[in-house]
Amino acid sequence: MSASTPPSGRAAKAADYVARTRPVVPPIYQSATFYLDDIAYKDIQEGGGLTEHWYSRFANPTVDAAAAEIAELEGAEAAMMTSSGMAAIATTLLTLLQGDRRRVVAARQVYGDTRDLLVRDLPALGIAVTMVDAVDLDAWAAAIAEAPTAVVYAEALSNPQLDLTDLAAIAGLAHEAGAKLVVDSTFATPYTVNPLAVGADVVVHSATKFLSGHSDVIAGVVVSDRETTTEIQRRMITFGGCLDPHAAYLVWRGLQTFDVRLARASETALALARRLEQHPEVTAVRYPGLPGYAWRETAEKLMRPGRGGAMVAFTVRGGNPRALAVMRRLTIASEATSLGGVETLVSAPFNSSHFSLSEEELVANRIEPGMLRFSCGVEDAETLITDVERALDGTVEP
Ligand SMILES: *Cc1c(COP(=O)(O)O)cnc(C)c1O
Repeated sequence: MSASTPPSGRAAKAADYVARTRPVVPPIYQSATFYLDDIAYKDIQEGGGLTEHWYSRFANPTVDAAAAEIAELEGAEAAMMTSSGMAAIATTLLTLLQGDRRRVVAARQVYGDTRDLLVRDLPALGIAVTMVDAVDLDAWAAAIAEAPTAVVYAEALSNPQLDLTDLAAIAGLAHEAGAKLVVDSTFATPYTVNPLAVGADVVVHSATKFLSGHSDVIAGVVVSDRETTTEIQRRMITFGGCLDPHAAYLVWRGLQTFDVRLARASETALALARRLEQHPEVTAVRYPGLPGYAWRETAEKLMRPGRGGAMVAFTVRGGNPRALAVMRRLTIASEATSLGGVETLVSAPFNSSHFSLSEEELVANRIEPGMLRFSCGVEDAETLITDVERALDGTVEP
């Protein structure tokens, strides 16, 4: 506690608890508000209260601890936590689209709720939205050149088809047009790529996924330079999507094992992808670590060598009914939406994350019938792979 005047009464008691201990992990500051003193007043008046701990919607020490770790992972100047990944995305877009160029050019291959935000909510606010195929550079260039644009938006590695956007190339296009590149790097994670290092201006994550890593918390984060982060933080304060200190603690704790979890899951994902390629009942495998990956050159340019990440998508012969049958026979991987936890989760995008898309839209987004999405956990790889093979074999029509 930074007291210019010694605390008294209740304040003295609370300060004493903190002063007498030196915890190894950041305490959960489950406090909505903090005692004010002359130093706090001065900071609030000079800095808008964005850094001083005086009210937890603005800033909280446990929330700051999680943000600092993620800023480091992304090699960024600053980061700020939000109540969910969608809060991070919406708050970022609504901040950057407040100027006179109220237009965003976005990838078509995006998370389902991001898609709803882009096709329904932003246009309802008078913001122009153009969507393009994430892997078609000519389409990006044409769309960006069409009209003054404030934001270019893409997922580094798309959900669920694992298309890899050439972030370096579209950062160039965005900057030439005076726009900012915002990247959702939830699927790729800082284990495989740091979008800021290849030209992105803002990175957003659903920290619900790999960053926290235990499927036990909903959280989001925005990472950028200090000035941009502060601008977005001001809107987070007025829109209200702050992270709860207890949730922030869970994110912080998950982050302590981020590298080991990802190393293990990434290794498993590569082994799974390789074995699936050999399986007669699998017609396509999408994984950035495979030599046959469609965007291999981009992967070599953007991603760290030998790191394909923990997500694998593959297509089962026989379409969606067969894919569902395979999924239901699995005993190690569990059928659930979401990803990035220590347990392997599997989903069929057509009936979960992308259920709102028509058949034509699914095909246009390269989500072919029979596609399954795997988020590899930290289970024994051989046990997991054998289970998938058994499920595939067990559903072959005699
Ligand atoms: C889950 C997810 C989101 C939304 O995050 P929440 O924490 O659920 O709000 C956004 N983008 C991607 C790629 C996701 O996987």
